[in-house]
Amino acid sequence: MKVLKFGGSSIGNTKRIENVIEILSGIKDKNFIVVFSALQGVTDKLISLGHLALQQNKKYKTILVKLEKMHLNIITELNKKKSLKIQKKISNLFLELTEILHGVYLLKELTDRTLDHIMSFGEKFSCLIISETLKNRNIDNDYLEANKLIITDSKFTNANINFNITNKKIIEYFRTHKKSQIVTGFIAENKKGEITTLGRGGSDFTASILGAALNVEEIQIWTDVNGILTADPKKVNQAYTLPKITYEEAMELSHFGAKVIHPPTLLPALKKKIKIIIKNSFDPKKLGTEIISRTNDNSCQIKGISSIDNISIINVQGGGMVGVTGIASRLFGVLADKNINIILITQASSEHSICFAVLPKQANNAKQLIEKEFRLEIIDEKINN
Ligand code: ADP
Ligand code: ASP
Ligand code: MG
Repeated sequence: MKVLKFGGSSIGNTKRIENVIEILSGIKDKNFIVVFSALQGVTDKLISLGHLALQQNKKYKTILVKLEKMHLNIITELNKKKSLKIQKKISNLFLELTEILHGVYLLKELTDRTLDHIMSFGEKFSCLIISETLKNRNIDNDYLEANKLIITDSKFTNANINFNITNKKIIEYFRTHKKSQIVTGFIAENKKGEITTLGRGGSDFTASILGAALNVEEIQIWTDVNGILTADPKKVNQAYTLPKITYEEAMELSHFGAKVIHPPTLLPALKKKIKIIIKNSFDPKKLGTEIISRTNDNSCQIKGISSIDNISIINVQGGGMVGVTGIASRLFGVLADKNINIILITQASSEHSICFAVLPKQANNAKQLIEKEFRLEIIDEKINN
């Protein structure tokens, strides 16, 4: 058994969805599990709808109508005379979304919990449309809302998986459901049944959670590039596809900005040693990149370069840090106490400076905490102001 995942970039419009259906029709094993993201750009639109409603900007209503029209048009283009039933299902979902946004508008309140609920519609729209379209073309399948199986904590917008419960639910569900499954990526729920999401780009993670729980032979991530390249092809023209890469290498590249695969995706696959293949839905004949445990290719130690656009670098330095024990522990301890996550750390071999990276929104807070912690060293000029 294989799990396939198609990202928003592979289902941006009718032509692209037709292309995906063609890929699915070519699969020999007819019982496939396919995870889909929202149609391209839809999650961003849903987030902005939430914020517009929060700001009591009535523009959200016209954008919402346009978004519905866009989905309904795609249904018509894909299904011609058989569109009505699917359109009704999607319009019902839009009614629900309209009510939620109206609530945000009235209450002037948009919590992360509500935002997750709003974002979850994107994957429901795309998967319902694709599932019903496949049925119209005699490809039998179930539409599966993955939140029924994937259980998380309540860290809304970036929830952590409870693998114990989730794995059991997945195994149980697939024991009794033998048809092909069209699965919503990205969305999960907490133990109270409230919708959570797995972080932006999290549909890749959904595929790997399912694949690992079911011990599948392979997880295929279908996207808009020829695999993992040596750099982001949108930024570096000469970037080329890496035929094979290890889980660890892929993890490093993705944590540092290679958006082609959502970082946590690698872990469940790595644990079960399940191969991940990244493939191009626009050019399915290309071999893509295999992510595996070991590669025999030692010709090139550096596999790729990735980058993050928004980051703050803080440098703590001073002559009084050289040879003194406990500075790093105090520095990172004070930040850990306030839940400030450190993305990268470097220390000069002379111990004269420690440099680290945090998210920009946490930078000022981090700076103030450090100045407070080291106020005596700063007065004594052991650490530079
Ligand atoms: P999807 O909608 O399929 O999930 P994403 O936009 O999330 O697609 O990820 C694919 C994009 O990742 C590519 O279009 C590419 O611009 C970007 N990317 C960044 N770094 C890399 C890399 N090293 N290799 C391949 N793609 C990369
Ligand atoms: N639709 C979600 C997002 O845009 C999840 C995904 O694309 O994987 O972040
Ligand atoms: Mg993605």
